[in-house]
Amino acid sequence: MSSIASLTITQIPAEAEALRAEVRAFLTEATAKIPAHIRAKSWSGFDPEFSKALGAKGWLGMTFPKEYGGGGRTAFERYVLVEEFLNFGAPVGSHWIAERQSGPLLLKYGTDEQKRTILPKIAQGELYCCIGMSEPNSGSDLASVKTRAEKNDQGWLLNGQKIWTTNAHHCHYMIALVRTSGTTEDRQKGLSQVLVDLSLPGITVRPIEDLAGDSHFCEVFFDNVQLSADALVGNEGQGWEQVNAELAFERSGPERIFSSVVLFDQWLAYIRTPAGKRPESTRLAGQILTRMAPLRAMSIAIQEKLARHESPIVEAALVKDQGTVLEQYIPAAIADDLLSRDEADVPFELMQTLTYVTHIAPCYTLRGGTRSILRGMIARGLGLR
Ligand SMILES: Cc1cc2nc3c(=O)[nH]c(=O)nc-3n(C[C@H](O)[C@H](O)[C@H](O)COP(=O)(O)OP(=O)(O)OC[C@H]3O[C@@H](n4cnc5c(N)ncnc54)[C@H](O)[C@@H]3O)c2cc1C
Repeated sequence: MSSIASLTITQIPAEAEALRAEVRAFLTEATAKIPAHIRAKSWSGFDPEFSKALGAKGWLGMTFPKEYGGGGRTAFERYVLVEEFLNFGAPVGSHWIAERQSGPLLLKYGTDEQKRTILPKIAQGELYCCIGMSEPNSGSDLASVKTRAEKNDQGWLLNGQKIWTTNAHHCHYMIALVRTSGTTEDRQKGLSQVLVDLSLPGITVRPIEDLAGDSHFCEVFFDNVQLSADALVGNEGQGWEQVNAELAFERSGPERIFSSVVLFDQWLAYIRTPAGKRPESTRLAGQILTRMAPLRAMSIAIQEKLARHESPIVEAALVKDQGTVLEQYIPAAIADDLLSRDEADVPFELMQTLTYVTHIAPCYTLRGGTRSILRGMIARGLGLR
């Protein structure tokens, strides 16, 4: 089968689209008082009360089975919601990773006990998870992780360090990729995933400040942390396969296309006004939209594969690579447009949003796997490596 055949275009079914109006009405009200430069943070924003409100509406864990507190609804229904959360710049950061990634991972590989204790709370917007993959000197080269969980009488003894862990200081659990046997020379072999209760003794979490002044990611240290025997997620030694399947959820979603969309919308609103209207700006808006539309179509096509329990790893890498290229182009192109105008004509709030997005945009091609690594994966998928 050719690689192009795997990117069949699909449509969001009508019953999922039907949700959009209700979600928009809710978000219009809920985000009305949040300034645009704060809404631009969206999935990095952190607001537990907002997460709980979404949980109460049944808008989190929609795809989890009802027996685990979920809605038993389709992946497309969830997709529509997520698109709207991002388009409105809703502060969804607190539940984001748990709902998008950790919940589906536990559903696929977790024990019944893990599913029963964790999933209902994720669906209520009350339990947050973080991803413990990266370590100093093992970011792109994940197979070289050194953090180790040694089997003992009580379960697993955890020692090591993770870095760049988004929201670790606010989270209840980390799903960590650790070495349970062998040495770093064994690479993918001997890696496992463990569920770490972050309130256990021996864990130190230190936030790291980013360029924009926010402290959303952290260093996490494990010093003789005693995990119980049932902390293992899935099978011992299968961590590499599990992590790769998990990354397809992380890489293909609308958040890899719409990180700059609050800025884009705000700028569009400005260039529709008599003060902002210019032919070259209209042309630029068209250029951005014609790049955004096919990426969105690809992301939706991948969603269908994920719903069929396939693991579209290469396709997800493609969407993330090209999606983040566009997400970085948007603030750069808008800066060119706005800085060539008379400063007094440009609304201050628009400039504030541009400043924030410009500061944060370099990380788009780092978080979730760097561009060079993704391009290597795509080349391999095409049989070129
Ligand atoms: C905002 C943000 C949030 C993050 N959140 C999390 C999180 O929650 N959990 C988590 O585990 N991690 C997280 N990360 C870490 C992120 O996934 C890593 O930063 C990323 O995978 C790269 O690893 P590194 O920083 O160690 O860079 P390195 O691996 O040291 O790479 C440095 C440079 O070398 C290039 N490079 C490395 N190896 C190769 C190769 N084989 N071929 C070609 N080029 C190569 C890379 O592409 C990159 O440009 C986050 C990062 C950011 C920026």
